[in-house]
Amino acid sequence: MVIKRNILLNPGPATTTDTVKMAQVVPDICPREKEFAGLMKGLRSDLLKVVHAPEDQYTSVLFCGSGTINIDICINSLVPEGKKILVVNNGAYNTRAVEVCQMYHIPHIDLKFSVFEQPDLKQVEQTLKANPDIAVVYCCHHETGTGILNPIREIGALAHQYGAIFISDTTSSLGMIPLDVVKDNVDFCMASAQKGLMAMSGLSFIIGKTDIIKASKNYPTRSYYCNLYLQYEYFEKTGEMHFTPPVQTIYATIQALKEYFEEGEEAKFARHRAVYEAIHAGLDKLGLETVIDRNIESGLVVSVKYPDNPNWSFEKVHDYCYERGFTIYPGKISTTNTFRLCALGKIYPKDIEDFFVVFKEALEKTQ
Ligand SMILES: *Cc1c(COP(=O)(O)O)cnc(C)c1O
Repeated sequence: MVIKRNILLNPGPATTTDTVKMAQVVPDICPREKEFAGLMKGLRSDLLKVVHAPEDQYTSVLFCGSGTINIDICINSLVPEGKKILVVNNGAYNTRAVEVCQMYHIPHIDLKFSVFEQPDLKQVEQTLKANPDIAVVYCCHHETGTGILNPIREIGALAHQYGAIFISDTTSSLGMIPLDVVKDNVDFCMASAQKGLMAMSGLSFIIGKTDIIKASKNYPTRSYYCNLYLQYEYFEKTGEMHFTPPVQTIYATIQALKEYFEEGEEAKFARHRAVYEAIHAGLDKLGLETVIDRNIESGLVVSVKYPDNPNWSFEKVHDYCYERGFTIYPGKISTTNTFRLCALGKIYPKDIEDFFVVFKEALEKTQ
């Protein structure tokens, strides 16, 4: 069977291998069978290895849903009664965390920074000092909206210094940028299978400190379906998800993890980096400008300014590229017109060179 290979330059779901796609085609199985629980056990343990989390301190908990479910679960489950969460906010995905706090009426501080810069650590520290009731600090690792990489190791260290736990949304960095939860001072991180692991959408997971999850048993319960302790407890008792798991995505993720370990953490990081360099090289050649200082870019997402041409149409250029197997993605910065080119997925610098041939044609033909 030949499956058309599309080059996805959007920030996930990403281009996958055929072996990952085909791993979903398996005999029908009831996910309450021991065989399936065994698969999830191995998967949970492999996820810990991706972020170098020691098994005796950390656990991983699986959920059926897109990546945002992790943000919802971490925030609604991990803030104790009478305490606050501090969201270190320099972009759209941190703003999503603030919106979750608002929906659940969880006391929070929205510490806002420019979306074009990394957060100022001095202000983070001042806020922690002035608010001893902050029990949780939250910050996105790679702010996918702009492409900025945030200094989570430093933010985590500050959180710990002031007696708070640290949650990082690592959805768009996990499995691509090496992460060591112990060294990086991360108590909870998260991702979903369709991003850095290059599997399919529908499976999300939280990796975090087991003792904190156990303590959260006594925290206010703000959701029935999305509660971290309940899902953890169910896994520990039965080896299963509380409710129906995304069966096919789990098969795909197991294959994707196998391929992740085969490629290797450093080699994969270097490949994404090379794709990112190829994106910048292609843009430079066309004279297109980017909006974020390269020194603070993650190396995974590039925000590109719309060309200064009255005939530019993102739609038309998108459609031209899409018809030829390349997907470009709109921007997420409210004050500037941008689009994004991303280095996720099983793609190579050669794919980016091929993309720029088509993209250049699109610019010429649509303007
Ligand atoms: C993709 C992403 C999410 C999850 O988005 P979904 O659309 O729910 O999958 C969360 N945080 C970050 C930083 C992301 O890049």
